[in-house]
Amino acid sequence: MQILVTGGTGYIGSHTVVELLKSGKEVVIVDNLSNSSKNVIDNIEKITNKKCKFYEIDIRDEKGLEKVFEENDIEAVIHFAGLKAVGESVVKPLEYYDNNVIGTIKLLEVMKKFVCKKMVFSSSATVYGDPGNPKYVEDMGRGKASSPYGATKAVIEEMLESLYIADNEWTISLLRYFNPIGAHESGLIGENPNGIPNNLMPYIQKVAIGELKELSIFGDNYNTKDGTCIRDYIHVVDLAVGHMKALQKLNKPGVYIHNLGTGAGTSVLDIVKTFEKVNNIKVNYKFAPRRAGDLPEFFADPSKAKSELDWEAKRGIEEMCRDSWNFISKNRNS
Ligand code: NAD
Ligand code: UDP
Repeated sequence: MQILVTGGTGYIGSHTVVELLKSGKEVVIVDNLSNSSKNVIDNIEKITNKKCKFYEIDIRDEKGLEKVFEENDIEAVIHFAGLKAVGESVVKPLEYYDNNVIGTIKLLEVMKKFVCKKMVFSSSATVYGDPGNPKYVEDMGRGKASSPYGATKAVIEEMLESLYIADNEWTISLLRYFNPIGAHESGLIGENPNGIPNNLMPYIQKVAIGELKELSIFGDNYNTKDGTCIRDYIHVVDLAVGHMKALQKLNKPGVYIHNLGTGAGTSVLDIVKTFEKVNNIKVNYKFAPRRAGDLPEFFADPSKAKSELDWEAKRGIEEMCRDSWNFISKNRNS
């Protein structure tokens, strides 16, 4: 029996594949390489000394997916594949709905056909919208999405809930991630987006290696301890371990929702200062106007994941900043 990981050569997917292989699972990856590259597979194999099967397939390609299910004995799917750039989703909403929502529908149809009814889905804290309290708890429900990207996550969550109501043989885990940063300690896998990054840590990394001149910190007058926004940053390896735990609990049909965050809020300035301190490197920055759509502060209540999944984040901000630098300094030209 194998675990199918869609988007398995991507940032979070690759770290999760490492954890799966380390735990003795057999893994099949499906990825169209739209935001990753094939050499990630070699690096996963170098880290784990184990092999995984790879199919370069788009999840919207039903025939291709059927072949994957025919050739393997898939017991469950961890579904990462999707587009994730918030800004781009505003410009290309149809592409986001097509890729994320239609892609998930195609995948579910093929899973149903092959009677594989267990899925862990990559959701996001963005589905909470703006609930009016910075500490996000699972039972707050979904709020109004602030972007088409966020809307695709909320729609997929709803779709999966409807699927379970229609057919209660499904076992579905919705994992709502907070802000993943960091990289595998080997420096072999991590996040290195093409072009100018949108997210904080990839931007800091590019400034630190001298590829970009300076970081713009969006907003210095929020009502927070230092005026900059507060988020719940989580080490990508902790996040990957969270998927393992969720997978282990897929033994009773239902839809289960869990936050994967640390529970601690960290400001943008804290991240910059910690990155500078632990890596002994300067990160040039300037203050810039607020970015549209940013909330001043939010972080996870991670207690449900602790009690139900026996999972909690173990790695702190220093380790996240150290591993992010280790990865980018080893991969600056890739
Ligand atoms: P990523 O872009 O690094 O990985 C996604 C992978 O999916 C890529 O390798 C890409 O090539 C692949 N992919 C995209 N569309 C595909 C398709 N139609 N068919 C096959 N493969 C396809 O992103 P990530 O940061 O690893 O995120 C993984 C998942 O987690 C995404 O669904 C994302 O929305 C979600 N998520 C990410 C964050 C974050 O901050 N990184 C936060 C919350 C949720
Ligand atoms: N941020 C910033 N400069 C950047 C990118 C991000 O100041 O170049 C801030 C952003 O305003 C937010 C935090 O960093 O407060 C995290 O942003 P990111 O885009 O990484 O994740 P988000 O929380 O928006 O999903």
